[in-house]
Amino acid sequence: MSSPVVTRFAPSPTGFLHIGGARTALFNWAYAQHTGGTMLLRIEDTDRERSTAAAIDAIIEGLTWLGLGWAGEPVSQFGRAARHRQVAEELLAQGKAYRCYCSPAELDAMRAKAEAEKRPIRYDGTWRDRDPSEAPAGVKPVIRFRAPQEGETVVDDRVQGRVVIPNKDLDDLIILRSDGNPTYNLSVVVDDHDMGVTHIIRGVDHLTNAARQTQIYLAMGWRVPEMSHIPLIHGPDGAKLSKRHGALGVEAYRAMGYLPAAMRNYLARLGWSHGDDEIFSTEQLVEWFNLESIGKSPARFDFAKLENLNGHYIRHTPDAELLQALIDFLPHAEGGKAMLGRLDDAMKAKLLKAMPGLKERAKTLVELMKSAQFLFAARPLALDEKAKQIIADGGAEALKSLVPVISAVPHWQAHDLEAAVKAHAEAAGLKLGKLAQPLRAALTGASVSPGIFDVLEVLGREEALDRLADQVR
Ligand code: GLU
Repeated sequence: MSSPVVTRFAPSPTGFLHIGGARTALFNWAYAQHTGGTMLLRIEDTDRERSTAAAIDAIIEGLTWLGLGWAGEPVSQFGRAARHRQVAEELLAQGKAYRCYCSPAELDAMRAKAEAEKRPIRYDGTWRDRDPSEAPAGVKPVIRFRAPQEGETVVDDRVQGRVVIPNKDLDDLIILRSDGNPTYNLSVVVDDHDMGVTHIIRGVDHLTNAARQTQIYLAMGWRVPEMSHIPLIHGPDGAKLSKRHGALGVEAYRAMGYLPAAMRNYLARLGWSHGDDEIFSTEQLVEWFNLESIGKSPARFDFAKLENLNGHYIRHTPDAELLQALIDFLPHAEGGKAMLGRLDDAMKAKLLKAMPGLKERAKTLVELMKSAQFLFAARPLALDEKAKQIIADGGAEALKSLVPVISAVPHWQAHDLEAAVKAHAEAAGLKLGKLAQPLRAALTGASVSPGIFDVLEVLGREEALDRLADQVR
């Protein structure tokens, strides 16, 4: 039996959890779930100047919101520096690494020479075979990895295929700086090994690192994890993803009113596919997810598609569940706190009743919240410009004759209210719109809303008649 799968998500907390990172996390999570394995979380916080506690919080909150859980406590890479140093010393002791005493001036000269000769900049191996007794006094050395110079390094990538990098292109990497701090590629290898990671799934921008890391694994005699380097995310026009096109933090998507389930579905389709399936549940994703179906070409992020998909999820979420999603959303939404303040049990009941009408039109929770706003409005309602116009242009008169008809309806229920209003329109020789428009304006303060008879029913007899009376005075 092969050992259980262990994946990891390893973000650098130098910014928020952006959409590409969320997709990487999703793939790691889905693969672990699919195989019955686990996903670990490692915070790569070694850049002390750029790493912030706020970014760590945002990553954890973003993953939690997306429903992508990890096993155990998050691992701090910085907290493991002593272990990284220990491995650097071990490589040194085995002759697989060496001390380099080059001064900054010497390295500058090396760089200038390479540039003049139009060669790629590489460390020239000055200290590779030099006797340490020649070390200049008072210079703190770095430790460099003694990379193989002949042959090639192969990354057998599950997505990119067999990637072959000539060893002459990989110079002797610094693994420990002169101040004793480990460098990135060493830390990643030691952590992945110690954490028992079996599968590395990350952005293709780490492919060159993968070759360097492979060399370190081999030098330590450690098993190289399975590697999958996934394509980048581009904008709908094929160019690098810009802010306008979606290069935002996950919290921005939350504030725009997307549902986590819709996000998971959408992100899964960025680079991975299951036939032509566009809409699938998280359970199906877990059942189907594999590394073989990750594509090689860049995925295209398209806001319009995400929005349509989200609309689908909103329409198909059971009313009570959607109400809860809306309530959870309010603290994160602009203007949501005011609504939260008026959200008592009676209001919740009204919202639940209105939900079938509300959710038909909303593509996001923001739209759902906006179309539910009329329920929360305090009397007398502040009408928007269009609604004011409707009331002024004969709407008030139309309501005046309509109110007695409506108040006489015995069962305050959409169907009966509709029948009464229709009969009145017919008798008065009016088009239904001539009555529906002023009703909508008076009851919701706007010129668009869910079905007006549903609105009447949901508001309840007293509140509805009071709102109408406010406009016919
Ligand atoms: N910390 C790296 C990043 O945020 C990921 C490193 C890795 O997955 O190996 O890009």
